[in-house]
Amino acid sequence: MIRSTDNYNLHTHSFYCGHGHGTIKEYCDEARRLGLDMLGFTEHMPLPDRRFANSRMSNEDIPTYLEDIENERKDDGMVILSGFECDYFSEFKDYFASYLEEGKVDYLINGVHFFKRGNRYVSPFDDVMTKDDVYTYRDVLLAALDTGLFSFQAHPDLIFASYREWDCVSEEVSREIIQFAIDKKIPLEVNGNGMLRPSPDDDYRYPRRMFWYLASEMGAFCVRNSDCHEVVNLAKSRPLQEAFVKECNVKKAYPLVKRGRLSFNF
Ligand SMILES: [Zn+2]
Ligand SMILES: [Zn+2]
Repeated sequence: MIRSTDNYNLHTHSFYCGHGHGTIKEYCDEARRLGLDMLGFTEHMPLPDRRFANSRMSNEDIPTYLEDIENERKDDGMVILSGFECDYFSEFKDYFASYLEEGKVDYLINGVHFFKRGNRYVSPFDDVMTKDDVYTYRDVLLAALDTGLFSFQAHPDLIFASYREWDCVSEEVSREIIQFAIDKKIPLEVNGNGMLRPSPDDDYRYPRRMFWYLASEMGAFCVRNSDCHEVVNLAKSRPLQEAFVKECNVKKAYPLVKRGRLSFNF
C-alpha cells in the first residue's frame, strides 16, 4: 500500500492485554463495518522480568496474538498491522528492538505509564504527580523517542492527567517533548481513551488542551487514535478526536506502509 490514509486506528487493545475486552476478529469485523483503511493492534508488551505483569499481556500469549492478527488479513483493502505498546526502559532496549529486527511485528509505540520515584514505580493514572515527577516523565519519554524504535508517542501529555496545574514546569516540559518529536519527525498522539474518562475539571483528563495549543504553535504533527480497550470504543471517541484536532489546529500525519513498515506522510 502506497497511499496514506486519514481513516485509521493505530492504537487498539484486545482481551489479550488482561484489562481489555474483545477478540482480534471482533475488532477487525467492527473496523470493516466502519470502513477503516488501516487497523493497528498495540497490545501492552510483556517485559522480560514480568514487571507490571497484572496490566500487561502474558508472554505465552504472544504467538496466538500474532497468529490471530495474521488470520484476519484479507485481500479486501483494509490493512491490519501488528504491534506493541511498550513501556520503555533502557535495559530492555535490545529486547524491544528484536521485535522489529526479527520482523515479528510491524511497529512499536511508546507510552509512559510508569516511572521511578526513588525506589518505587509511580503512575500518572494512580498517583499525585510532583514537579520532580514531571521532569522524570520527560526524561523517560525522551530517552524512548531517542532510540528511534517507536513509530509514534502514545498520549505524550499523560503526565498532565494527574499534574493538572498549567505552570512554568508544565510548559517547559511540554515544549521539550514537542520540540524533540518535531526534530525526530515522530508524530504525537491525540488519545481518545482519555476523552472518555471522567475529568476533574472542564478539560479532558487527557489530551490536555494547553499541551496541544503549544504543539500547534510549534508545528508538531499528530496521529489520533481511540486507544480502545473494548470494541464499542473503536469508533466512540472518533468525533471528539476530530473536533479536538480541529480546535487545537494541529497538523496531521497520515499513516501508510512503506517497505513493510508503518510510516507517515507529513
Ligand atoms: Zn497507554
Ligand atoms: Zn494503549
